[in-house]
Amino acid sequence: MNAFEALGLNEQLVQAITEMGFETPTPIQEKAIPVLLSGTTDFVGLAQTGTGKTAAFGLPLLHLIDTSQKHPQALIVCPTRELCIQICNDLMHFKKHVKGLSVEPVYGGASIVMQIRELKRGVQIVVATPGRLIDMIERKAIDLQKVKYVVLDEADEMLNMGFRDDIDFVLKNTVLRESIWLFSATMPTAVKAISKNFMTNPIEVTMGKKNTANVNIHHQYFITPAHSRYDTLKRLIDFNPGMYGLIFTRTKADAQEVTERLSKEGYDIESLHGDLTQQQRDKVMARFRSKSIQLLIATDVAARGIDVDGITHVINYELPDDMEVYTHRSGRTARAGKSGICMTICHSREAYKIRSLEKLVNAQFHKLDIPSGKDVCRKQFFHFMDKLMEADISNGEYETYLPDLQKKFEGVSKDDVLKRVAALEFNHFLKYYQHSDDLNAKTDSRERRETGFRDTGAGERRERNTFSRSDNGYSRLFINLGTKDGFYKASFLQFILDESNLKKEVLGKIDIREMNAWVEIDKAAAPKMIKSMDGKTYNGRLVRMNEADGGFKRASDDGRNDRGEGRSDRSEGRKRIPMR
Ligand code: AMP
Repeated sequence: MNAFEALGLNEQLVQAITEMGFETPTPIQEKAIPVLLSGTTDFVGLAQTGTGKTAAFGLPLLHLIDTSQKHPQALIVCPTRELCIQICNDLMHFKKHVKGLSVEPVYGGASIVMQIRELKRGVQIVVATPGRLIDMIERKAIDLQKVKYVVLDEADEMLNMGFRDDIDFVLKNTVLRESIWLFSATMPTAVKAISKNFMTNPIEVTMGKKNTANVNIHHQYFITPAHSRYDTLKRLIDFNPGMYGLIFTRTKADAQEVTERLSKEGYDIESLHGDLTQQQRDKVMARFRSKSIQLLIATDVAARGIDVDGITHVINYELPDDMEVYTHRSGRTARAGKSGICMTICHSREAYKIRSLEKLVNAQFHKLDIPSGKDVCRKQFFHFMDKLMEADISNGEYETYLPDLQKKFEGVSKDDVLKRVAALEFNHFLKYYQHSDDLNAKTDSRERRETGFRDTGAGERRERNTFSRSDNGYSRLFINLGTKDGFYKASFLQFILDESNLKKEVLGKIDIREMNAWVEIDKAAAPKMIKSMDGKTYNGRLVRMNEADGGFKRASDDGRNDRGEGRSDRSEGRKRIPMR
C-alpha cells in the first residue's frame, strides 16, 4: 500500500501526489494527516515552510470536502498574496483527479469584483489574506456560515503583521466551524492566545524543537567593522559563485542603496521593497523564481511569503531587530530536505547576539573569517574552470572549426591557452582584488582574551559568553543633545549623519538619553563627526561633542556622561531650529 494511502487519503489524491513525485510523507504530513482527516480535532502544527506543511493540511482538507455542496466549507487564511497563490497552486495540483471541487484565492491588490464573481460560482475552499477577506465579509460577498474547517497558515507572520483583530473576527464569524488547524513556525504568546481562546484540546505537533531552525541550515557569521559591511557582502557573494541568494536588510533604504551599488558594480540583483506596485513585485519575483536574477534583496516586510525553492544562501546584511525574525529569514533556504547556508554579517558589538540566536534556533553558529581577495580569486578561478570542463561540446559545428583553431594555436602550449582563457574571465577580478583589504574586524591578543574568542582551527573561531565593548575599532563620542531636544533614535541618527555628511555604516551603537547621547563611530570617521558637531549652535545653545573615555551608560545611569558633562546649559521647552 502506498504510504499516503496508509494515512487514510483517498485514491484520487494519492494518484495526484504520486504523479507529482511525492513518495513518502514528510514528518509533519505523517503526524498531521491522520489527525486532520477526523475533521473534528483542533490542531496546532509548529512547522516551517519547506517541511511539506501545505500538503499536510491541504490533502486532508481536499479529502473532507463534500463536492455535492457548492458553498465554502473550508477557509485557509494566510499572511500574503504570494503565499495565497502558492497554496492555491498546490491545492490545484493535489485535486487534479477530484471532480467538482473548486478552490478560489481571495487577496488584496487584485480586482475585488472579479474575485466576488468567482466566489459566486460556488467554491468549496477559499484561500484568503486577512484584509481582503474582511472586506469580502463586510460586503457580504462571502458566506462563512457553513465553513467547517478553518486553517491559519503562518499564524505568527499574520500576527506580526498586525492581523490579530482580523483573525479574531474571522474565527468569531465561522459559527458552525468543526475544527481549526493552526500552522506556525514559532509559538509566540499571541499565537498561544489564539489556541487558548478559540480551540478545544488541540493536538499539538512540533517538528523538531519549538522555535527551531531547520537542521539542514548551516549558520555562519562574519565580523567586520561597521564601515566594511558592504564590502563584506560583496566578498561573500564573490566567494560563492554558484550562489542563488536572498539578502535581508533591516530598512527599505538599505535595500535600495545596496541594490543600487551592487547593480552599478555589475551584480545580478534586484530588490523587493514596499514602494513597488504589485505588478512590479510580481515581475521581480517571477525573474527571481526563474533564476533570471541571481540575487534578491528584501526587507522582512517585503519578503513575507516569499516561497522559492532552491535558495542556496540567505544573507543577513544586518541582524534583524527581532531575533525571532532570524528563524523566518533562515527558513528561506534548506527547503524540502535540501541544505542551505545562512550567513550573518555583524560588527563586533553585535557578536554577543549570536549567542542568543544559537539558543533560539538551537543550532551552532560558526564564526568564519571573511575571505581575502586572494581566496576569492582562487575560488572564482576554479569555479570557472569547472564550468569550462562541464561545457557542452557535443555540437558538431565545433569540429569544423578545429583545423583552423589548431593552425591558429600552433606553437602555443595547453598551459598558455588555459591561462589566456582564464585571463579573459579573470583579469578584472585579479585587478579588483589585487590590493584588497582584510575585512575581518581586528582582534588583537588582548581583545581576543577579553572577547572570549579562541581559535578552534580551520580558520574558525568560536565565541564564549563574555563580550567586551572596549576596543572594537570604534570611538565613543559624547554629545549634549538628547530626547529633551525632540530627538528619538532614528531622527537623531539622521540628524548627525546629515550634519556630518557621513554614511550610516560608520556608526555603531547609539545610546540616546533625555539630556545626552553617546554615539559609537568608526575611529577613522570620528574626527569628522566631532568637527561637524562640536561648537555649533542648536536651538540657540552650544553643542558639545567629544570623545567619551568611559563605557556606554546603562539604563540605570543618570544621564551624565563619563566626564560629568551634560545638563548645565539647558533650558526647558526650546524649539528646534536648524543648526548653523
Ligand atoms: P511546503 O512546506 O508546503 O512549502 O512544501 C515545500 C516543498 O516540498 C514543496 O515544493 C512541495 O511540493 C514539496 N513536498 C511536500 N511534501 C512532499 C513529499 N511528501 N515528498 C516530496 N516533496 C514534497
